[in-house]
Amino acid sequence: CGIVGYIGEQQASNIIVKGLQRLEYRGYDSAGVALLNGELDIKKGKGKVQILKNKLEANPSKGKIGIGHTRWATHGEPNDINSHPHVSESGKIALVHNGIIENYNSLKKELINKGRTFHTDTDTEVVAQLIEEIYENGNGDDLTFEQAVQMALKQVVGTYGLAILHTEEPDRIVVARKGSPLLLGIGDGEMFIASDASPIVEHTKKVVYLDDGEIAVVSKDGYEVKTIEDVPLTKK
Ligand code: GLU
Repeated sequence: CGIVGYIGEQQASNIIVKGLQRLEYRGYDSAGVALLNGELDIKKGKGKVQILKNKLEANPSKGKIGIGHTRWATHGEPNDINSHPHVSESGKIALVHNGIIENYNSLKKELINKGRTFHTDTDTEVVAQLIEEIYENGNGDDLTFEQAVQMALKQVVGTYGLAILHTEEPDRIVVARKGSPLLLGIGDGEMFIASDASPIVEHTKKVVYLDDGEIAVVSKDGYEVKTIEDVPLTKK
């Protein structure tokens, strides 16, 4: 339902939680964040953003890069395990997703046949596992995280706004859009990501809207947009 991301020099968790609160008006059943600080630190669960905020106050998550989500369940009941962010089997990839992966069942079967274990009932977990499967075992080449995301999304049928972290490429957030809005806010040495403008407007007036079929690599100093087929784009 709602996505927020941050990369820069500030502690990300405060900015992300505040952003999630700005998105509460859209409705949701669960909330969560993933902060990257060497390892992924994930806190999530069913219920209000305020509950997540209390958890973070009691036990802060550090990191200058992170993603957050408010979930409106479509696949898998609203509970702690099915809340986003979702992680790959190795725990190195975390992502948040708005939308519906229509072919998640067939993708899940293929991934289970390749030996992967699933821990949630969501359509979303399939995307994290598929990106990791391609990143690790791809086509024999050394793929970047971004290339693995592109290849994974070519196999995905459905709608998505996605924000993705990888512990092995800790200076970037990869985002993608198809049928579910996503925009970038450009700051000074920091970048913001959100599924609508309300979490971004208090930070910057410079925004870039992604279009369907686009992927962006977001770092603290800027962003690069391409199509899923790897055609570079210049955005306004
Ligand atoms: N289909 C996903 C789920 O059920 C995402 C739902 C949403 O957009 O919040 O977890």
